[in-house]
Amino acid sequence: MGTDCTYCGSDVERHDPVFVSEATDDGRERAGQFCNYACLAAYIDEQALTVGAACEWP
Ligand SMILES: [Zn+2]
Repeated sequence: MGTDCTYCGSDVERHDPVFVSEATDDGRERAGQFCNYACLAAYIDEQALTVGAACEWP
């Protein structure tokens, strides 16, 4: 995997990179990399990752 931002495709090493990993059966796996939190937030928004998530208030 290179160092391109998952969201905008820029080289994250030129910014202040944020890395996201997901838990797997074997441990943790790199799930994405972003220039900064702005790209991460934009990516989440675009993917609507919070829609349908199991984090509803009781
Ligand atoms: Zn970016």
